[in-house]
Amino acid sequence: MSRGKTPSPETRAEITELLADAPTERTHLLEYLHRVHDVRGYLDAEQLAALAEYMGLSAAEVFEVATFYHHFQLVEPGVPPAPLTIRVCDSIVCDMFGAKELLTSLEQAMGDGVRVVSTSCIGRCQKAPAVLLGRNPVVRATPKSVQLAMDTGRTEEKLPAAQGLAAYREDGGYAVWEECLAGERAVDDVIRQLELADLRGLGGAGFRVARKWELVREHAGPRILAVNADEGEPGTFKDRHCLETEPHRMLEGALIAAWVVEASEVYIYLRDEYAGIHKLLVRELDALRVAFPESLPTLHLRRGAGSYVCGEESAMLESMEGQRGMPRLRPPYVAETGLFGRPTLVHNVETLFQVPEILIRGAGWYAAQGAKGRRGRRHYSISGRVKRPGVYLAPLGVTARELINNYAHGMAKGHTLYAYLPGGAAGGILPASLADSELDPDSLSHFGCFLGSAGLIVLSEADSARDVALNAMRFFARESCGKCTPCRVGTQETAKLMAAAAWDLPRLRELAEAMEEGSICGLGQAASNALRCVVTHFPHELS
Ligand code: SF4
Repeated sequence: MSRGKTPSPETRAEITELLADAPTERTHLLEYLHRVHDVRGYLDAEQLAALAEYMGLSAAEVFEVATFYHHFQLVEPGVPPAPLTIRVCDSIVCDMFGAKELLTSLEQAMGDGVRVVSTSCIGRCQKAPAVLLGRNPVVRATPKSVQLAMDTGRTEEKLPAAQGLAAYREDGGYAVWEECLAGERAVDDVIRQLELADLRGLGGAGFRVARKWELVREHAGPRILAVNADEGEPGTFKDRHCLETEPHRMLEGALIAAWVVEASEVYIYLRDEYAGIHKLLVRELDALRVAFPESLPTLHLRRGAGSYVCGEESAMLESMEGQRGMPRLRPPYVAETGLFGRPTLVHNVETLFQVPEILIRGAGWYAAQGAKGRRGRRHYSISGRVKRPGVYLAPLGVTARELINNYAHGMAKGHTLYAYLPGGAAGGILPASLADSELDPDSLSHFGCFLGSAGLIVLSEADSARDVALNAMRFFARESCGKCTPCRVGTQETAKLMAAAAWDLPRLRELAEAMEEGSICGLGQAASNALRCVVTHFPHELS
C-alpha cells in the first residue's frame, strides 16, 4: 500500500468524526485503528495519514503499526475492499481436522465481496476445524455450515453465558478483595499464602507469583497491573474458558494483585479473536464500576489485533503503548520499567483466576491439589484425537495418559495414541511411550520439551509428527515479529527445509542452534523444539 498520502478534507472529517475528540496520546493508536477498521472494514493510506495528523504522529509511524497486525485489512486507494473476511485457522489441530481442504473449498465457493484467508490459531481447537466469519467463530466448520452462517448474517460473536457480577457476589465473590481493602488482610500475609501455595505463573513462564509481587513492590510507584489475555499458543484455550465462565474470578484476582502492588491502573489486553469476551468484559467492567464506585483502580480494556508474539509480556506492553508488538531487550525487566516506563506486574488470566480461591481455602488446600509430590492444580486445554476435547482442571503432576483417559474420555473412536504435544506448538512432541511421564517442567525438560500454557494436543496413528512439526514451524515463521535476524530468517528457512522430501539435518541443526542462541524472545528460542523432537523421538518418519 502506498503511504505518505495527503488526506482529503472528507477523510480528515471522517476520522475526526469517528474519533470524536478522543485523546491523542499514542497509547490509543491500536484502539483507534480498530475503531476505523470496525466501521469501514478496512484501512487505506488516506485514513492512516488522517489518523497520523489527528494524533500528531508521522504517517510512517501509523503505517508501520497498522501493517504489523494481521487483523487489519489494508487496501490500495480505489481498490474495493472485501466487506467480509473469513479467516480459516490453519494451525496444528485445525490442520489435523481438514483445514487445508476447507480453505480450498471456501476459496472456490465464495464470490466477490468475501475475502478468504488462512490464519493462526483462533483458540477453538476443541472443535476443529474452526473459522472466524467476520468476528464470529464457526466451529467444526464445513463449507455448508459457513455458508449457512453467512446466509443468516452471523458475523458477530455472541456474548458468552458467563456468571455475572450479582451471581458471583452471591457466591461470596469479591469478599476477599473487600477484606483486603478493609484492612482485614495484610499484604505480607496475602503474599505469604501464595508463596506457601507455590502458585506459579500459568501463562507459560512459570515464575513464582509471590516473588513477582515482591519484586514489583521493590520499585517506586506509581505501578501498573497488566493482565495478559492474549493466549495464542496453538492448542491453548483455557483462558477463554476462564473468561467465558467466571470472568469475575479473574477480575477479583486482578484487584487483589493490584491492591498488593498498589497499582492504580489495571490494563487488560485481550486477543482480538475473542470478540464475545470483549463484549462481556465491557459489560462486566461497567457493572464493577457501578458496584464499587470509590474503591477500584482505573480499569482499561485493550484489544490485540492478531499477533501471537504479543502474548510475550514486553511485546504486549509495546502493543498497549501503540507500537508494533515487538519484545523488548532485557534488562530492564517489566517489574522495574514496564508499561509507560512504570513498574508493572504482568499476569496471565488463569494465574489471577486461581488467586481468590487460594486465599479463601488456604495455601495448604491448594498445595494438596497436586499429584505425585507436586503442589497445586491448573487448567489443561486438551485437543486432537480424544473423545471429549475441552478444558479440564487437573493436578500438577498429572500425566498425558491420565488426562486423555480420565478427563477427555479416552482416544476418539478408531484412534490409538501415537504422540502428544504437552505445551502447544512450542513445547515439543513426545511419543506415546512417554505418555506416563508427569507433565511438569522438570520431567518434560529431560526430553527437550516444556509444559508452557498446558495445551495438550493428542495425535493418533492417523497423524504424522513430522507434519505437525512443519505446521508449527510455519506458524512461527508467520508470527515472528522480525526484530532478530536468527528468528526472522531462521524460521522461514527452516520451514522451507522441513517441507522437502528429505531433511537436510546438518543445516537444520545449524539453524536451530542459531535461533535458540540468537533470538531475544521465546518464539525464536522455542521454534525448533518440535523439529528436534522429531529427530530424537520419531526418526522412522524421516527415513
Ligand atoms: Fe521477534 Fe522472533 Fe526476535 Fe522474538 S525471537 S523478538 S519473535 S524476531
